[in-house]
Amino acid sequence: MKTAFVNGRVFVGNGQVLEEVTVLVEGDKILDVGKSAPGPGSDVRIVPIEGATLFPGFIDCHVHLVMDASPDPMAAVVAQPPAITAIKGMVHAQKTLAAGVTTVRDMGGNDGIDLGLKQAIVSGLMQGPRVLASGKLICMTGGHGWPMGREADGPDDVRRAVREQIKAGADQIKFMATGGVLTPSVEPGCAQLTFEEMKAGIEEAHRAGKKTATHAMGSQGISDALHAGIDSIEHGIYLTDESIAFMKENHVFYIPTIAALFHIGEKGTAAGIPSWAVEKNKVVAPHHRKSLEKAHAAGVAIAMGTDAGTPFNHHGCNLMEIPLLVRHGLSPVQALMAATGIASQVLGLEKQIGTIEKGKFADLVLVKDNPLDDIDLFNEADAIVCVMKGGRFIDIGQKNG
Ligand SMILES: [Zn+2]
Repeated sequence: MKTAFVNGRVFVGNGQVLEEVTVLVEGDKILDVGKSAPGPGSDVRIVPIEGATLFPGFIDCHVHLVMDASPDPMAAVVAQPPAITAIKGMVHAQKTLAAGVTTVRDMGGNDGIDLGLKQAIVSGLMQGPRVLASGKLICMTGGHGWPMGREADGPDDVRRAVREQIKAGADQIKFMATGGVLTPSVEPGCAQLTFEEMKAGIEEAHRAGKKTATHAMGSQGISDALHAGIDSIEHGIYLTDESIAFMKENHVFYIPTIAALFHIGEKGTAAGIPSWAVEKNKVVAPHHRKSLEKAHAAGVAIAMGTDAGTPFNHHGCNLMEIPLLVRHGLSPVQALMAATGIASQVLGLEKQIGTIEKGKFADLVLVKDNPLDDIDLFNEADAIVCVMKGGRFIDIGQKNG
């Protein structure tokens, strides 16, 4: 049976906004986007768009399905049995999809759980977004994120670590170029994996046709990752003018993950977040804002990622990153493209998802009213009217909490 989203506003995902348009879905694909709506009596399920707006399924380029948004989620991963982490991951995936996020790029998890969740979703065992999994993130011994990582030292070991993730089924490879906020006794500004290590690892990933991303906060680590050939910079706290120019010229994506810092800053130690994390967050936050404003002004391609799973950064609240991007200088259209068309390019899936175009997967999200006029709609619990993934409607009853 065909489904038609009839006669309304459509945010295509490529910068265009169409009015009075009908989107026709057959099977798991978009069959047509146009002016003609199916007549009465035709064998088509009709969904009126009316005053709402139809978007391509949203894409979050940076989540951790294994992390539970508790005050110290990395400690939870270490303390709890992997089976519990996996069950939590299942719930996180369901909430994410119900919130209108039809695709996530998972940036690292322990015990192959992200890879398993992906498999369970693909096989129909459970509901969830399309998952591009990284397997274990690759870090130096004791480096940032090590509880969810494959610690590797020296170019040969990093190369081997990359091969291990690809063998396990990773869709992309995640490196750790610098320290970070959520691991005790590492500094966000300090470089971690070396240029030589990342060069070997990135080369190996690219040989297998896999994209690469790096957690990168300090300037030296960012620069090393860029010159080693990285495809996206995550967080990017201390971006220099030179790094920004390099990213623009080489089309390296920037995924700022504002929500990660925002929630740690908002909740603080009063909510139980370890003081060392809150202190580090306080130091880096103003630099992050400056980096994002500069990168945006320079025309670096910015995509939406939340780092969902970090403290109070709940799976299923992913789309609050969109108003945060606007508060950091993007226009509403730019922020929405960061979460759709541009994000699909980060994943290398721009031919399948990210825009509402004939032949693409029918990942469609109806959002109430017009978010282009009021971007803060995305902070409201009832913003999402309905979600379709691959031509099938999703039960969105359980998105909150
Ligand atoms: Zn992360």
